[in-house]
Amino acid sequence: MLFGFVKVMDTQLTWYGQSAFKIVTSGGKVLLIDPWLTNPVFERGKDEIAALNRVDLVLVTHGHSDHVGNAVEIGKKTRAKLVATFDLSAAIVTTLGYPSELADVETTGHMGGTLTLLGGEIAVTFVPAWHGSGVSKEETAPSVYGGNPSGMVIAIRGRPTIYHTGDTDLFSDMALVSRFHKIDIMLVCIGDHFTMGPDRAAEAVKLVNPREVIPMHYGTFPVLTGTPEAFERELKRRKLKTQLRVMGIGETIELPE
Ligand SMILES: [Zn+2]
Repeated sequence: MLFGFVKVMDTQLTWYGQSAFKIVTSGGKVLLIDPWLTNPVFERGKDEIAALNRVDLVLVTHGHSDHVGNAVEIGKKTRAKLVATFDLSAAIVTTLGYPSELADVETTGHMGGTLTLLGGEIAVTFVPAWHGSGVSKEETAPSVYGGNPSGMVIAIRGRPTIYHTGDTDLFSDMALVSRFHKIDIMLVCIGDHFTMGPDRAAEAVKLVNPREVIPMHYGTFPVLTGTPEAFERELKRRKLKTQLRVMGIGETIELPE
């Protein structure tokens, strides 16, 4: 029992479906990644956006609408700064209207670069992903160049360090991510069709060797057929030490240091 001590809160992670996550650090900073909250599998998207008071950073891995999602609305409402690679940031500002003063050089980088943010509480490193990154205002409009898609390594001071793969296939250079960062939590796409499916995702986990892995980017649309069950089988087949953690839509978990 604790008497006279305030227990420091663990980092909290919420999954909204697809690749959208909220991180609340033990210091109270709020980060949203690929914030498509009004996606087809999260019923409370609009209410959740309305309830968002504080957001410090909005991180976007690439320009597709299932990842940019509600970023602009959230940025305007909360004055969160946009964290993205150079070309993507420019496209989101000029094409979709993210406030340009919230997308300056402080939070804009590129592959291999690390941004130290929020007084050093957060460090974000952009790493490659194999995908596309065009930005479209409407589904029928031609897409605007958004550079190369990225994954992101989000290192929270005092741990944990989280690797969000973005949308990608498996590639052998994923092994380099853990040469520079000890990954505690890997958020990995498993849905197939537009990204790697369960078998290739399990191979990606083997390369990165995180403590825990959380699957994402599945079940949102019928074509995203990869399942956590198939992913679990593929992880077991490889006898990996990494622990699988399957989150529910809208669920919040605590991430110990
Ligand atoms: Zn996607």
